[in-house]
Amino acid sequence: MSLERKIIIEERLNSNAWDVDQRPHIRIIDPDQCRKCDKKPCLYLCPARCYTPGPDGTVLFSHEGCLECGTCRLVCPENNIEWNYPKSGFGVQYRFG
Ligand code: SF4
Ligand code: SF4
Repeated sequence: MSLERKIIIEERLNSNAWDVDQRPHIRIIDPDQCRKCDKKPCLYLCPARCYTPGPDGTVLFSHEGCLECGTCRLVCPENNIEWNYPKSGFGVQYRFG
C-alpha cells in the first residue's frame, strides 16, 4: 500500500494561480431565466463555486476563480450561459497535475 499522502481537492485548487482579466469570459445571458430555473445546477456543480444565490431567485456569477472546466455551460438547462475562454494570457494556470 502506498504511503503517499492523499491530496484533497482544496489543496489542489490552492496550488493554481490566476491572472484575472477585468472582463468576464463567461456571463449569464438572461438573469430572469435563472428565476425560472428550478434546480439551478450551476450553484452545485461549479467546482470553483463561481455561482452563488442572488436575491429573488437570481444567480450571481463571479469569474475570478473559474477553472475553465466548461461544466456550467453543459449543465445549464436553459442554455443561458455565454461561455468563452479567457483572453490569451489570462485565466487559470494549473501548477499541479
Ligand atoms: S443553470 Fe443556467 S438558467 Fe439555471 S440558474 Fe444556472 S445559469 Fe441560470
Ligand atoms: S467553467 Fe467550470 S469553473 Fe468556470 S464557472 Fe463554469 S463550472 Fe465554474
